[in-house]
Amino acid sequence: MREYVVNLFEFARTGMIAEGDVPVQELPRMLTEVPAAVPVTERSTVVFHWRAQGFERSEHRADGGMAVRQYLRLAVAGDMWLECQRCMTPYRHPMATETVFEVVRDEAQADACLADDTLPEAIVGSANFDLIELVEEELLLALPLVPKHEVCPEVHVSLVTGPDGQAEPAEEDVQDKPSPFAALAALKRVPSDEGK
Ligand SMILES: [Zn+2]
Repeated sequence: MREYVVNLFEFARTGMIAEGDVPVQELPRMLTEVPAAVPVTERSTVVFHWRAQGFERSEHRADGGMAVRQYLRLAVAGDMWLECQRCMTPYRHPMATETVFEVVRDEAQADACLADDTLPEAIVGSANFDLIELVEEELLLALPLVPKHEVCPEVHVSLVTGPDGQAEPAEEDVQDKPSPFAALAALKRVPSDEGK
């Protein structure tokens, strides 16, 4: 059993707060989003800080009565490795989300919330609710559709490519100059020409 499995109804009712740090290695679906080019040692530096807070509120129902509703506020933040879709290199993408969920009893109630835009997002509570699983879901939803550096690192095209856009072999300009051995051979040939 994971460390942050709670009774979510009790968590909300008593206004509990939990927080912690979770490394990306413990979030299998987020881990698959880390580019393959990122070394394992770098992966281990990706840690997300999360904070969950439960609370209750008395609210007026449509029929005029009062109802106690339960909520969970979840904030998650950290720098994730992603591959920039402009320059195709990995970069650290800062992520930060904060969502208030209404804690409901069953799927039918959750669907009712989903149908009404004015209501907060709903999650179905349970006596064994895995907060870390919700943390991972929040992160997956917050991933950018097209990850990009804000500004790609500057690459001086003239330094790394030749005029045809291909990487220039280092020997090329050496070959343009006459070889010192060729020049020496030409000097040596002069006396033998005179001897004819
Ligand atoms: Zn880039």
